[in-house]
Amino acid sequence: MITKLSFIILSLLMLNSKAAEHAVILQYHHISDSTPAITSTSPELFLWQVNYLHEQGYQILPLTKVIDAIQRKQQLPSKSVVLTFDDSYESIYSNAYPILKEKNWPFAIFIDTDGVGKNKMHLNWQQIREMKANGAEILNHSHSHTHFVRQQSDENKQQWLQRIRKEINLAQSIIKRETGSDDKIIAYPFGEYSLEIIDLIESMGFVGVGQQSGPFGYNMPDSIVPRYPMGAYFGKPASFMQKLNTLPMPLKNYPKVEPVQLQNFNPALALDFKLDNEGQKRKLLNQFQCYFGANKTNISWSEIDNKALTANVRATNNIPIARSRYNCTLPVKGFNPEVTPKEDVNNKTYYWYSQLWIRPKKVSADYHEIHWYNE
Ligand SMILES: [Zn+2]
Repeated sequence: MITKLSFIILSLLMLNSKAAEHAVILQYHHISDSTPAITSTSPELFLWQVNYLHEQGYQILPLTKVIDAIQRKQQLPSKSVVLTFDDSYESIYSNAYPILKEKNWPFAIFIDTDGVGKNKMHLNWQQIREMKANGAEILNHSHSHTHFVRQQSDENKQQWLQRIRKEINLAQSIIKRETGSDDKIIAYPFGEYSLEIIDLIESMGFVGVGQQSGPFGYNMPDSIVPRYPMGAYFGKPASFMQKLNTLPMPLKNYPKVEPVQLQNFNPALALDFKLDNEGQKRKLLNQFQCYFGANKTNISWSEIDNKALTANVRATNNIPIARSRYNCTLPVKGFNPEVTPKEDVNNKTYYWYSQLWIRPKKVSADYHEIHWYNE
């Protein structure tokens, strides 16, 4: 019944607006002034964001429907946005939910099931069930919020992957027992994945959601769904408005690149562009940029033929210990005038693509002993 109703709503929304092949997914943790800044959005800023989304005519859609539509290559409304919250923090209920309920907007909460009811900082199942009854999708964030990519020194590869499989299955069964929800969508704890973890969740029939930034669109792997983190300054008005306007980087294909680097701390990212004309090629060569922290990366180009170019992106210095990213942008204006949104008066709409990197603290000479960083 709910599925059918959502489908009808989605169909109606699509009649009213220009169609798109992507959606922007936002990621929140705490909505609070008294929690760690990096994972927090103040209630005032959150309210401002909600009002902005409303006034600007953004369509707030359920995550399950957006993923389904993109997997099936069905059109979405041109201003599709999804709101997601990670972890089982109480401030979602106290500070975000009343605002979203009033708007009658859907949202998703990725729950680490072991955290539920732990203390006053955390949600309890009653609150979660109430939010579910009012538009929340309750999804998997593992049981203990462990780092999926970390194989322990006392376990072999099979034991490690079995442990992660158990984490996912346990959380899924608890969510099903407590709320009745059984959507196979997991957000990686800390946004950390590796190619082996991708293989695992795909073999389990799950969609995997990350924290690397960018809009989610057609032909992207659904095991590394991108989201825009909204903590700290990322959610401030200028950054927020810019992210809402982004489009998927016009790549020939969206590669699955191994983020975990044990020996190469200067990893290369190869991105294949398909070009329609000379103008696009010039635009790409002149204006495609990637950033690593605050610095620009090196980009070298290889020409496949006159209709295809590969950008070889590499940071100018080593990636730091822990998580980092290459963030790549290309202004939309001039590259594809057809899809330039009308509001792009200041040439501020960008194609966007991000690649995650993960570097351990210390790796032994034979790569068998890995020391990880503390969170
Ligand atoms: Zn989390």
